[in-house]
Amino acid sequence: MSPRQLFELEDARAAIVAAAAPLECESVALGLGALGRVLGEDVTATHPVPAFDNSAMDGFAVRAPDLAGAGPGNPVRLRVVGESRAGRPAAAAVGAGQAVAISTGAMLPEGAEVLALGAPEAGRDVRRAGEDVLPGQTVLRAGARIGPAELGVLASLGRSLVRCVRRPRVSVLVTGDELLGLQEAPRAGAIRDTSSYSISGLAHCGGAEVVWSGRAADDAELTREAAERALDAADVAVVCGGVSVGVHDHVRPALKALGVQETFWGLALKPGSPAWFGRRGETLVFGLPGNPVSAMVTFVLLVGPALRRMLGRAPEGERAEAILDGDYSKPAGRAHAVRCRLEQRADGLHAIPTGPQGSHVLSSMLGADGLALVAAGSTGARDGERLPVELLREWTG
Ligand code: AMP
Ligand code: MG
Repeated sequence: MSPRQLFELEDARAAIVAAAAPLECESVALGLGALGRVLGEDVTATHPVPAFDNSAMDGFAVRAPDLAGAGPGNPVRLRVVGESRAGRPAAAAVGAGQAVAISTGAMLPEGAEVLALGAPEAGRDVRRAGEDVLPGQTVLRAGARIGPAELGVLASLGRSLVRCVRRPRVSVLVTGDELLGLQEAPRAGAIRDTSSYSISGLAHCGGAEVVWSGRAADDAELTREAAERALDAADVAVVCGGVSVGVHDHVRPALKALGVQETFWGLALKPGSPAWFGRRGETLVFGLPGNPVSAMVTFVLLVGPALRRMLGRAPEGERAEAILDGDYSKPAGRAHAVRCRLEQRADGLHAIPTGPQGSHVLSSMLGADGLALVAAGSTGARDGERLPVELLREWTG
């Protein structure tokens, strides 16, 4: 690397968030297609859930006064006059001296309570209307991610359509003469292209839609052509590799030739120092380092805030504080993002580095729960020191 001015991670993130704008909303049918989407509206209940008082048990619906004083020595005989099944209410109310057989979830006949065994107090085993959700209650807020529970709650409100933020369109371009697709035969000096997979996976987990993916050889013209396609398709174009200062690194000049305005080049972060960021109109353009770990780490730390902002969510990644296990030394200058496993122990959350931290050691991302951030100015962190950790759980599927 040249001794140029490197951007501090937090400054880089602030510049990226400032350049990203929330996307518009669209109607999405409630179903698996809505899973993972981000709500673009506050969801307020118009009706109570449950909509009617109903039974929490299989048994008999009776009038509480009829059973006053009932017990093993004082049986009370009630005439069974009907049945209330789930979805099929009884035809008539329970009268004095009467009972209605009732199933769990069945509508409560007027005037009745549910009998289990013995003399119940009034209201026992009754699930009241609105116990789950009251009318007018805001159940979900804009910016919430729709997971399985959200899907179910939206269904309970009868919402067949929900407003979701449009998914950011992401394109992924990998560069390098050495890269091999999975169908290509191995050859001397070639390596498997991993970033097409891992970076597309991160984009997908981050709520984006990967609309284009491609590969370019280390050639100025081919890189420019491929970058043009990546830019045309996307809200966010991600280019992996070729963004350093080598004679075969064509990405920066290609992006500049295509009218992308550079915001920064060079990050005071390991791994990730060659990272580049710019924009062309509304399109955000990231040049990520080629090394597979660096590409993933910089995607999480730089592209992550942009995607969250576009989706109308808080741009900061989820963080925790954890106690470092073992000494970690580094020269002062750049911050380090250390892949860690997190473990809850009696004295708190511990961060345990996942092993060799080389930026080519992609398997060190396996089982990583977070990125422990060791400050740029420090010469490392001691065993037992507390560090901020950017959590990876939103990126794990
Ligand atoms: P570069 O940033 O182009 O200098 O690449 C740095 C290192 O990352 C080199 O060892 C490349 O072979 C490797 N690399 C670049 N792109 C990829 C990719 N898509 N998949 C796996 N390794 C890559
Ligand atoms: Mg390269």
